[in-house]
Amino acid sequence: MKVIKIGGGCLKGIKTIRQISHLIPTYGKGNVIVVSALYGVTDILIGGINKALEDEEKILPHLEIILKLHLEAASQLMDSEECIQSYKADLAETLKQLERYYFGLNFTGELTPKMKDAISCIGERFSAQLLTWALRSYGQSCGCLLPQHLKLYTDGKFGDATVDLKATTEAVKETLIPYLAKHEIVFVPGFYGISQSGNITTFGRGGSDYSAAAIAAAVDAEVLEIWKDVDGFMTSDPKLVSDAAFIDRLSYEECAELSYFGATILHPRTVEPVRQRNIEIVIKNTMNPDRQGSVISNKSGQAAKVIKSITYTEDISILKVHASGVGYRPGILSIVAAAITDAGLNIKSVVATQTCITFLLSQDDLEPAYNALMQIEPVPFRMLEKEDQLVLLAIVGEGISTSKGVAARCFSAIADVDINVELISFGPSKAALYFLLHKDKLHQGIHALHASFFDTEKMPPPA
Ligand code: ASP
Ligand code: MG
Repeated sequence: MKVIKIGGGCLKGIKTIRQISHLIPTYGKGNVIVVSALYGVTDILIGGINKALEDEEKILPHLEIILKLHLEAASQLMDSEECIQSYKADLAETLKQLERYYFGLNFTGELTPKMKDAISCIGERFSAQLLTWALRSYGQSCGCLLPQHLKLYTDGKFGDATVDLKATTEAVKETLIPYLAKHEIVFVPGFYGISQSGNITTFGRGGSDYSAAAIAAAVDAEVLEIWKDVDGFMTSDPKLVSDAAFIDRLSYEECAELSYFGATILHPRTVEPVRQRNIEIVIKNTMNPDRQGSVISNKSGQAAKVIKSITYTEDISILKVHASGVGYRPGILSIVAAAITDAGLNIKSVVATQTCITFLLSQDDLEPAYNALMQIEPVPFRMLEKEDQLVLLAIVGEGISTSKGVAARCFSAIADVDINVELISFGPSKAALYFLLHKDKLHQGIHALHASFFDTEKMPPPA
């Protein structure tokens, strides 16, 4: 059996939704299909939070927008009036729940992480039910199983949950597996699971990929297919580098590094569950479903090329903690790191020298992290320094740590175009080398690197 994930980009506009719903019977029978919300719906749901907090009067009109959007899709997709009415009933029930959440927010005037998760994941239920009824209207035998009934168990962390794979693997034997025996196609809303105590917990934005990977691992699927509107990973962002090329094979490690450092093809944590069970991930382009997209497995492929891809993210900033004898004072790193994580912030990476600890953070986390460190007593550092005019570039490929001269070639390509490198990290990962440049240098830097590693005329012969 396969687990297939259908992303929000494939559920954008009635034409594409219709096309997807007709692809499913051909390519999806006998399988589990994990879906994202219709394109833009998660943002609408989150946007409703502020409206509800501001003014009670804004709640019902907001719900009306959501209702209309889905009903319109239903009436254009479904062949039978009976199925439209049944979908309407499901939609009304889910909307009622959303209405209670929004009014609850307005009443308490306070947004908790628990409430944010409960609200933001509802779009996945609307879309899963929409596709279920659409396919039923075409005469297909299909069902919809919610994560709370499937028992997709998590560690209970709101906004960034981790799947409890052991508990979920046990649970699916009693839930999903028998359900699959009764339905040819089973839809599951992505993006969230439940804690042992029954709380809804999301996997962070874009988390449906991770849901699908967790379910694939729990049922020991033969493959995890990710349906998208692109073929998969490229040697660089084609919007920036016009001769960026398609990558047909990547290792789990390379995929994880690329996703973590910017390539927005997959949620960064997608490989975690499937890697443990050695399940391949295959990207399938729904515009071209018979073509093979990027395949991610434990084999890297393309051994002749050391570097697979050059990626970047502009969502980066650094917080430098200056202190003397960092290496001799093992406690200091844990004190400052704990202050940042206790404030609910995520540390992307840390680079430490004898005199300075540098934290790499999301732009939005820089100010709160700075404030969190300023509150530590007694003050464990000499000075703090913030910087946010940066971009992070990463070169990714399994061969990086084993082939000679890759780092040298990378930095001479950068130096040749007269760019100053602000920070380098090489070593923690065997498949990635990353460094920071001033953000004005992004285009120039990425072109120089891409030409150096991928332009066949400039490439030195393999050693
Ligand atoms: N709908 C959610 C989001 O927009 C989850 C997902 O699509 O993966 O983040
Ligand atoms: Mg996505």
